[in-house]
Amino acid sequence: MFDKILIANRGEIALRVIRACQEMGIQTVAVHSTADSDAMHVRMADESVCIGPPSGLASYLSMPAILAACEISGAQAIHPGYGFLSENAHFVQAVEDHGLKFIGPTAEHIRIMGDKITAKDTMKALGVPCVPGSEGGVDSLNDAHEVAADIGYPVIIKATAGGGGRGMKVARTAKELESAFLTARAEGKAAFGNDEVYIEKYLTTPRHIEIQVFGDGKGKAVHLGERDCSLQRRHQKVLEEAPGPYVSDEERKLIGKTCADAVAKIDYIGAGTIEFLYENGEFYFIEMNTRLQVEHPVTEAIFGVDLVREQIRIASGQPLSFVQEQLEINGHSIEVRINAEKLPNFSPSPGKVTAYHAPGGLGVRMDSALYNGYSIPPYYDSLIGKLIVHGENRKEAIARLRRALGELIIDGIDTTVPLFEELLNEDDIVNGDYNIHWLEKWLDSRFH
Ligand code: ADP
Repeated sequence: MFDKILIANRGEIALRVIRACQEMGIQTVAVHSTADSDAMHVRMADESVCIGPPSGLASYLSMPAILAACEISGAQAIHPGYGFLSENAHFVQAVEDHGLKFIGPTAEHIRIMGDKITAKDTMKALGVPCVPGSEGGVDSLNDAHEVAADIGYPVIIKATAGGGGRGMKVARTAKELESAFLTARAEGKAAFGNDEVYIEKYLTTPRHIEIQVFGDGKGKAVHLGERDCSLQRRHQKVLEEAPGPYVSDEERKLIGKTCADAVAKIDYIGAGTIEFLYENGEFYFIEMNTRLQVEHPVTEAIFGVDLVREQIRIASGQPLSFVQEQLEINGHSIEVRINAEKLPNFSPSPGKVTAYHAPGGLGVRMDSALYNGYSIPPYYDSLIGKLIVHGENRKEAIARLRRALGELIIDGIDTTVPLFEELLNEDDIVNGDYNIHWLEKWLDSRFH
């Protein structure tokens, strides 16, 4: 086992990893930008190293700075959290070239899954069901017209290098295709330096269901069921729950096994998430994330496992600490993402938190790096906390979430908390009756 781990991240996820390390008796090294000198992850870690100026590019994304911090501190392994360098194959290679351990999959697996066309081809070959669409990339507008006519409108044009909801454009008719094709290409080029795109059937009423998998890198893998992340704004998740309100035990077993078998076959190592759209009882693969997800706590809640500890164990060469038959679902869990944003436009609302009080009690978990008097810097993602509840069933989880939101105090800035308070009064949410378009429609009717 490692003696010392460096956490190449900030905010709540850095705390999440530090906490797991502390429980495992592992020393922790925080890295931070000059804007984060007073951040909670710096205070909680055993040591900290300043790695650059405020901009993410010059600090949390700076590979030389992070590798130097490892060298200075003597850390043996790096946990990347999510975002930043967590899915950067070059970084993983550099970490390994320096004789350090990356807590995550291999550079090769990250490369395969980071390119959506290659990921889809790979998954298809492994027997995972995919959204109907083009065979590989589509280079010209002419080809795009042919493919789209073939699969039928509406279609979605996606940048193969896309992520975070960027580089995706829907065309509802042939007339809309040109602009969608050119915009997706331009976005792919501008944001990811790659203008290759592909085309998929655009599903009109799907749910977003993702399967958590864990591989030991030696041909063994398990799945930890699904999370339903259909409540989205601009293709970004807002609330997640597990198990999915309408996924049957039989469906879970089947799709879970398909996913676990697929990653076992490629000797996948560590945590991964296979994302699907789910419509009319069918699962369609869209992408795989080769890292810990923001929403991992809902899975931890219902299975009673520590996914970060498992990641660290596997990276250090230990076997999986559970077999499939031991993984049993207990109750229901919901997470809401609390952002420093002002409604109704979700404009960023950084600034000083004049008062902070986290909710508590049975079945309540607050993952946040806030504290009284903390100033949220304007340079990073607006996620400032995740409130996760666990109940015996969905009804109890919802009642608990309402109660916990009532206890939560975050003064001095605007947050998305009022949004959740309102959503919990909606019958569709209470009944679990929503798809990936529900929230956008609701926001439209509520605020415009
Ligand atoms: P990203 O990597 O940017 O997160 P994904 O491929 O995971 O992109 O898709 C993000 C979201 O976009 C999905 O959860 C879904 O809401 C929507 N989406 C993606 N593909 C399709 C599709 N074929 N039909 C309908 N919606 C889609």
